[in-house]
Amino acid sequence: TPDPMRADTTTTAVCGYCSTGCGLRLHLRDDEAIGLTPETGYPVNLGMACPKGWEALRVLDSDDRATSPMVRDADGKFNKVSWDAALTSFCDRFKEIQSTYGPDSVAFLSTGQIASEEMAFLGALAKFGMGFRHGDGNTRQCMATAVTAYKESFGYDAPPYTYDDFEQSDVLVFVGSNPCIAHPIMWERVLRNPNDPAIIVVDPRRTETAMAAKEHLQLSPKSDLALLYAITHEVIQRGYVDHGFVDAHTNGFEQLAQHVQAFAPDVVSSIAGVSVDQIHSVVDLIGQGKAVSFWWTMGVNQSYEGTRVAQAIINLSLITGNIGRPGTGANSITGQCNAMGSRLWSNTTNLIGHHDFGSADDRAKVAAELDIPVENIPTDTGWSYDRIMEGVRSGKIKGLWVIATNPAHSWIHQDDARALLDQLDFLVVQDMYDSTDTARHADMILPAAGWGEKDGTFINSERRYGLLKKVRKAPGEALADFRIFQAIAHYWGVGDQFRDWTDPEAVFRIMQRLNRGKWSDISGIDGYAQLDRCGGIQWPWSQASAQASHGEGSSGDPAPQRRLFEDGNFAHPDGRARLIVDDVTPPPEPPCADYPTWLLTGRGTVSQWHTQTRTSKSPVLRKLYPNQPYVELHPEDAARIGVSNGERVTVQSRRGEATAAAMVVPTVRPGQAFMPMHYESTNRLTLAHFDPHSRQPSYKDCAVKILKA
Ligand code: SF4
Repeated sequence: TPDPMRADTTTTAVCGYCSTGCGLRLHLRDDEAIGLTPETGYPVNLGMACPKGWEALRVLDSDDRATSPMVRDADGKFNKVSWDAALTSFCDRFKEIQSTYGPDSVAFLSTGQIASEEMAFLGALAKFGMGFRHGDGNTRQCMATAVTAYKESFGYDAPPYTYDDFEQSDVLVFVGSNPCIAHPIMWERVLRNPNDPAIIVVDPRRTETAMAAKEHLQLSPKSDLALLYAITHEVIQRGYVDHGFVDAHTNGFEQLAQHVQAFAPDVVSSIAGVSVDQIHSVVDLIGQGKAVSFWWTMGVNQSYEGTRVAQAIINLSLITGNIGRPGTGANSITGQCNAMGSRLWSNTTNLIGHHDFGSADDRAKVAAELDIPVENIPTDTGWSYDRIMEGVRSGKIKGLWVIATNPAHSWIHQDDARALLDQLDFLVVQDMYDSTDTARHADMILPAAGWGEKDGTFINSERRYGLLKKVRKAPGEALADFRIFQAIAHYWGVGDQFRDWTDPEAVFRIMQRLNRGKWSDISGIDGYAQLDRCGGIQWPWSQASAQASHGEGSSGDPAPQRRLFEDGNFAHPDGRARLIVDDVTPPPEPPCADYPTWLLTGRGTVSQWHTQTRTSKSPVLRKLYPNQPYVELHPEDAARIGVSNGERVTVQSRRGEATAAAMVVPTVRPGQAFMPMHYESTNRLTLAHFDPHSRQPSYKDCAVKILKA
């Protein structure tokens, strides 16, 4: 373990794992980080960090770091090549595919793990320079439903909250969210709440968070939309509606009230598996709370009707007037460290900087800001992740460039996804590690620097731009993704188009210009130095706000915690939020006689991250988590199958099977099982189906059978 006492100086940077965006103090010797501690003065984490953050440096030293470009030869073996050879081949192969099969026969899959400036560079390079029409992020897998829900309900993809709200609520409602495990520092903020808040958890599992709750609605899988409508029904019936707020700031209340009439608690109770009394109790807590905040994550987002579930939560927040005040809000928590950056800057779901590909005015504005021909900008968003994969199947996509993500592990219905990757004419993987499941399918690997080895910004869940910094040299010939994109621009022959994209802070300035006048305006930020000094800055922070804050006695810096919609003005042209409802639809693969068990998936531990490409490299993090797949089973199911705790079982779905150790626990209900997503085998089982509004995969509802192995 490096001894921080040997450091000769320190600096701060945000953590590179989850969307909490904790500040870490890096201890440096000769400009190289030799240790870290949580930053006590950072307004996010207040001196705390979870095990992943504490171990952030160690995973940079792994033996499987990609240190040189590699190309697969005719015998299927990887050979090291120079950057010049790799980039020449990269451009030749993609251009050849485009010329043979058409410009739309190539695509990229990106990530929520690289810096905002890198996302902007990739999106602009691929779509405005290389002629790619199709590209998406792995953020499609985690928060696309929240984006769609916010856009439709608020008129802008705008999570309204600030982390102080965790400490200022008197009632917190967590739907499909287990912050105790998935967002542990946010959970610590809840524990600091001085109001002794009532915590309500809506989750099919008795999670760690549910164990701390006053009310746990342990609902049946996929009954969340009906249950939320039942709660809404009862909020209206019991007179808990804030009619002043509803009349002044929303549209659609009459339709909402009419729609939920069919969802009386006694009707929904048997569908959802929770008692009428419990629904009443939760409604009273919400209705009588002074500051009620609603939080959701993947249990909602990763659902075939996730957008409408998210909007049912938003509706509850709006009709009870719980928004725009301390301790309130309809608050989606994102997953990855820069999922929020992807939403604004990746040039995938939105034209870069929250513009619209379909708008001629927006295209003209972006073209003028970037000094490029407007014809270079596609007139539609291109294909979402699932449609890109389907494009591979149909032979329309022949070349794929994968950046800092691992679809061979994480994409739904894994065997199918892997077969599709093998079907490609040309697959490039750009990653820190050359051993990922996806890299094994690649034709070319481009070695990338990781967190701690490059500069830029991440945007956390509460809209805070925070700085990441280069505090280590990348190994071998690995380069920052920013430098790889810069080099590709040059080799592709469009370097001149990106002549002003010289370094991350120069791109940050371009981003500021692109986003001016938007809800997410950051034109008032005075560069990286101010981000560093202020402990990050939440969007929006416009030039006008900055000028106004320079009054006498003011530092000119923004307040450290700011929330949206405090004036009740939303982003739709009429300034009013929309109350949106829809029909409840049945899941496509409910349990049956052959496959009698619901399979739930999710995050299993605080110590592992997604597909474990990084966290598995830390001996400390590995010790905190079983190194073999496990499945949580109820004791009744375990007895029926004839297995006891720790014995091996086979989990089979219609698509594949996985072997796992039985973890016999009462936290899942009979007829349900839970497998963490961190293990490679889990997605062999999952069913590829999607929320129609957001195209987000529905990872948490397929039918399996479990047998003694
Ligand atoms: Fe990093 Fe998230 Fe842990 Fe904070 S909670 S230290 S951001 S992984």
